[in-house]
Amino acid sequence: MTGTPGLDRADLLSQYSHQAPIALSPHAHNRVALHRTDEAWLDRAWADPATRVLLLDGGRLLVRDAGGTNGAGDAFDGDAGEPAPTWVTPSEAPTGTRILLGEDAETDAVRFAVLVDEVPAGMRGEILRTFVQDLGADEAALVLHAVALGEWHRANRHCPRCGGRLEVRESGHLRVCVDCGRQQFPRTDPAVIMVVTDDEDRCLLGRQARWPEGRYSTLAGFVEPGESLEHAVAREVEEEVGVEVGEVSYFGNQPWPFPASLMIGFFARARTTEISVDGAEISDARWFTREEMRAEAEAGTLILPGGISISRSLVETWYGGPLPGQW
Ligand SMILES: [Zn+2]
Repeated sequence: MTGTPGLDRADLLSQYSHQAPIALSPHAHNRVALHRTDEAWLDRAWADPATRVLLLDGGRLLVRDAGGTNGAGDAFDGDAGEPAPTWVTPSEAPTGTRILLGEDAETDAVRFAVLVDEVPAGMRGEILRTFVQDLGADEAALVLHAVALGEWHRANRHCPRCGGRLEVRESGHLRVCVDCGRQQFPRTDPAVIMVVTDDEDRCLLGRQARWPEGRYSTLAGFVEPGESLEHAVAREVEEEVGVEVGEVSYFGNQPWPFPASLMIGFFARARTTEISVDGAEISDARWFTREEMRAEAEAGTLILPGGISISRSLVETWYGGPLPGQW
């Protein structure tokens, strides 16, 4: 890596006729962060019958054992029988840690989450990842925010400096040590994820040994301390498959709080094509032409990442349109 600058996003996308949308990214609620310490505003919002509250047990969403419907609050429609996040009115919410999520993008109704002290009878905790693909975009944005904070609160009970107890502040967006006063903010871990292309515009995908046969995906990895995004792309590609990367261009990003990642997508141009897999994270990697990718995906011998992931968006943008088959 020489530090060759990449194309800017518009230049990159102008090279591809189809830009696959990135799920979970474009919709956002208004986080109304300035109200997080405004007790009078918070009291009014909590008293408003239009307000809805999402219930969680740490980083797990509470769902109803029977029926699986949305609950009395019914803020979002769910298919009866499928697990769905539970939204209730403030008066129905059990005791717990209260988090201000913000205002709904369309209705301006205020949304909170409560991390319950005790799971109510008839409910259970579910991992969001199992049904995130079933959520509408507006609901998904709120739920991702809540799950990320729920997981953070669960894992950060004690001060990293002195071991003291951390108290919740700022409507769930800060914890402060009762002994030494240290402020502990929620963290998000940046991870790079990339389509690597060569001079023939082939696409490099890899697979992990533990995956089912035929499953391939884009390479990815966490950014290390003190490292730029572009260098993380080059390092991960070289470590995992032995390919040298030059130009690195930004594609888009996606929150992925499982438990705390932000996936940052890139196109990377290979300077070498010989593959040497690390055998640890990656057991095989291949260059695909578009014809090979289409034929193998149609035959079911190549299984590509699911539609919700930015990996799918990267691959389909390179390919030039939707592809069949997914995890
Ligand atoms: Zn402390």
